[in-house]
Amino acid sequence: MPRVVTFHYTLRDPSGRVLDTSTGAESITYLEGSGTIIDGLDQRLRSAPTGSKLTVAVPAKEAYGERDPAQVQRVKRAVLPVAGELQVGERFQAGEDRYAPVVTVVAIEGDDVTLDANHPLAGVDLTFEVEITAARAATTAELAHGHAHGADGTGHCQ
Ligand code: ZN
Repeated sequence: MPRVVTFHYTLRDPSGRVLDTSTGAESITYLEGSGTIIDGLDQRLRSAPTGSKLTVAVPAKEAYGERDPAQVQRVKRAVLPVAGELQVGERFQAGEDRYAPVVTVVAIEGDDVTLDANHPLAGVDLTFEVEITAARAATTAELAHGHAHGADGTGHCQ
């Protein structure tokens, strides 16, 4: 039976740099197998009981995927949907459509801008330090909806 799991985490890259953490913020609650968290982490937390503290290594291909060189493209500054001055490292949505990919500016040379549509964590092997603060059986409603209804199962749907 899938569980609903609540946890805190700190995410590090291979050099040990902290990329993200839930410490001091809200914990994460998810239904196992629902795709709420990356699959590689979901798989490795299966059956870990409440109170577990684990260090979980998730290779890039099971996290945000390998980098795809075809996702890096050079375009003319004039065609971009952003006003004002661009800076290397800036991220924006590459179109009006809300499903348009988010791209990162990786280089600016004259009128040419090089954009990278890979996820910023593509190609990065991730290490999660996880503390499971709660785990319970999913409710019938949660299983039917395919998502958790909060840590205690009584939360409202999004
Ligand atoms: Zn629901």
